[in-house]
Amino acid sequence: MSDLQELYQEMILDHTRHPRNRGELPQANRRAEGFNPLCGDKATVYLSVEGDRVTDARFTGKGCSISTASASMMTDAIKGKTLDEARTLFEGFHALITGQATAADLGKLVVFSGVSEFPARVKCASLAWHTLKAALDGEATEVSTE
Ligand code: ZN
Repeated sequence: MSDLQELYQEMILDHTRHPRNRGELPQANRRAEGFNPLCGDKATVYLSVEGDRVTDARFTGKGCSISTASASMMTDAIKGKTLDEARTLFEGFHALITGQATAADLGKLVVFSGVSEFPARVKCASLAWHTLKAALDGEATEVSTE
């Protein structure tokens, strides 16, 4: 294993053990739920969208280490982004983990590049992102706790 791959694995492990942005977001005005039946991963993504910008993002759910790390890094990555930028990140990330070329600037998300070699894990890594896309595309409805 190369030093780079080791570094990537360490970053993923860190986000698995200490997920960022985990928990409900009371002021969320976009929400979507996702499920990956192949692995049993579940994710709910909460977004606070003001104008055309994602001002906050959180997630809840249970899943394997890859799905948890991916949700953690996804919520970090999209905070402060415009809706268009978040969609570009989604497309870039999807290309990355399916082994396709992308011109998107993915920053730290490149740590997931190795996933493309494990087709069964691609759905784990993409669950939070597909859930994000559903939330972005959804109606701007108020989320009720009732
Ligand atoms: Zn999984």
